[in-house]
Amino acid sequence: MTIRHHLSDQLLMAYAAGQLPEAFNLVVATHVSLCDECRSRLGAFDAVGGALIEEIDEISMGEAALEAALSRIDGLPQATRAEPLKPAGIFPAPLADYIGGDLSAVRWRRIGGGVKQAILPTGPDASARLLYIPAGTAVPDHGHRGMELTLVLQGAFADDNARFNRGDIEIADEELEHTPVALAGQDCICLAATDAPLRFRSVLPRLAQPLFRI
Ligand code: ZN
Ligand code: ZN
Repeated sequence: MTIRHHLSDQLLMAYAAGQLPEAFNLVVATHVSLCDECRSRLGAFDAVGGALIEEIDEISMGEAALEAALSRIDGLPQATRAEPLKPAGIFPAPLADYIGGDLSAVRWRRIGGGVKQAILPTGPDASARLLYIPAGTAVPDHGHRGMELTLVLQGAFADDNARFNRGDIEIADEELEHTPVALAGQDCICLAATDAPLRFRSVLPRLAQPLFRI
């Protein structure tokens, strides 16, 4: 598997700092679990963050306080890190854990044109969903009011001149209007997260949206 479309530094940094909404966290964690390159970039950001925390601790803790803290840590039972091996499915571990299973655990809802979605339960700041797009089908043309992350889990889609395969991530923002098309051969399954408000068709709610931030 060759991944060509990666996470941005800003997203990796925000993830390392724990500043992303839950829905984006899920997409980032799932991509990182598939992508050696982003995992090592994330490791670098984690190291920088860890060094900063250490520095702050050294300044704020006297020696006695530090010793007391360390002895408390020593007294804690060791966390077990062994995880049962799972058979390789379509969903990488972070997503499978979230859903509580692989493809068979997903409760799809039809949204027209053969496209199905399953909204995942996340915090209110952003939403995450699985999308099932039959091979050769186009997703309706749309724009974005915020950021949209789309991670391919099965099949592939084309957008403008780029091709997105399993593991690839597309980052879309307000600048982009697009019509992704699932490529022939295999139905496409994606994990998508967006922090954009809903797009209304009628004029009045659309005018009210910026005022009420809905
Ligand atoms: Zn990557
Ligand atoms: Zn989009």
